[in-house]
Amino acid sequence: MAKYTVLKFGGTSMGDEHTWKRVLDITARYERPWVVVSATARTTRRLIAAAESAATDPVKARDMAEEIDARHRKLITGFMDEYAVDGPSSSREKEQEACLGHLDRLSEILLGHLDAIREAGSLDDRTRDAVASIGERLSSRLLASCARAAGMQAQWVDARELIRTDDRFGGASPDLPFIRSAVSELLERWRGKAIPVMGGYYGQTANGNLTNLGFEGSDYTASLIGASLPCEAVEIWTDVSGVYTCDPRVVEGARPIPALSFREATELAWFGAKVLHPSTLKPASARNLTVRVKNIFEPEAPGTRITGDTTSDGLVKAMAYKERSALDDGPELKRLSEELQELGEAGLRRGVGVIGLVGCDPARQKELVERLRRALGDIKLETLSYSSTKRNLNLVVEAGHTVEAVRRLHEELFEG
Ligand code: ADP
Ligand code: MG
Repeated sequence: MAKYTVLKFGGTSMGDEHTWKRVLDITARYERPWVVVSATARTTRRLIAAAESAATDPVKARDMAEEIDARHRKLITGFMDEYAVDGPSSSREKEQEACLGHLDRLSEILLGHLDAIREAGSLDDRTRDAVASIGERLSSRLLASCARAAGMQAQWVDARELIRTDDRFGGASPDLPFIRSAVSELLERWRGKAIPVMGGYYGQTANGNLTNLGFEGSDYTASLIGASLPCEAVEIWTDVSGVYTCDPRVVEGARPIPALSFREATELAWFGAKVLHPSTLKPASARNLTVRVKNIFEPEAPGTRITGDTTSDGLVKAMAYKERSALDDGPELKRLSEELQELGEAGLRRGVGVIGLVGCDPARQKELVERLRRALGDIKLETLSYSSTKRNLNLVVEAGHTVEAVRRLHEELFEG
């Protein structure tokens, strides 16, 4: 039997009924797809904002909940009107009704949490995670119903059944052995042709508390599932055609990189490239699964292929940055500092920008350093340090000049 391809669709891909249609059309091209989706665009942030204001401003919190509900209602109606197939019309009606039922139920759950927060007078971590999971619970259930309304065989999978985690709220660690056996059991039970559709990001502890894998955690869910299945590849579908030489929203001349190693991609993610959750590649590389990054708006573009192979080409492959990465004290600061220590000898300073170059050619270190010093010109370089492998270089500049420094470096190194 064909192996699975895990397809993960991010927030922008889940933006409106038209992108949902794209998601389903892309899915339909695969022989054995397994779909993992994020919440619809902006929903998770909005949910957390609602939870955070519920104690002090319950009216505002309720308004936010209503906005989320209304947006999803509009999306479903739009999808059903435009894309549900004229087959047995009862199935379309049935699915639309099912969607509205799911939406009502999850909206009620959300309002219940908001009330509880108001009564308690404050928001605890456990409730925050329960609220945050609602976006993916909603998007995945609704997408599975819309897929059926569009004539596909799809079946919703509750991530709580599969993604067992510890109880570190806000960024829990997955229990991979549990996930593996739960996925195998599910496959045994199903044996069907329906396409599994599940929400990314959230999971559940052994005690039944909802948790999540941290910000942007849906990528991580996809690779955990990929590592638990007979799987051909994990594909991260997003709004850009792969991993670029730098964030294309910041640097106009950035271009997609055809191939990266697991290590390079992970380093880039740690350095701040938002396109991948930094933990994504761990389970995939352990199983030597290919990870591809692809664009839903340009599905024919080759995207980026991430594998265990390190190909050396050129002076440097990509760069990323974290601006003002260390302004507030707290767990984030500590974690970032530890992450960077693992990669090289970078020190962490307050009010600075950290720029990381990955995939440097160790034999051309001198040339690279000369060129980047020249490119920076009058921007003061606070520190510059190579990782022990000499394949990553990290620069620290004054926070206010980070983006300008990134643009100058990119022009020098990639736009020649
Ligand atoms: P999704 O909602 O699909 O998860 P994200 O917003 O998390 O999408 O990631 C895609 C975005 O990541 C792109 O729109 C781009 O602005 C940003 N990004 C940052 N660095 C890079 C990079 N090196 N290559 C590609 N995209 C990047
Ligand atoms: Mg993302």
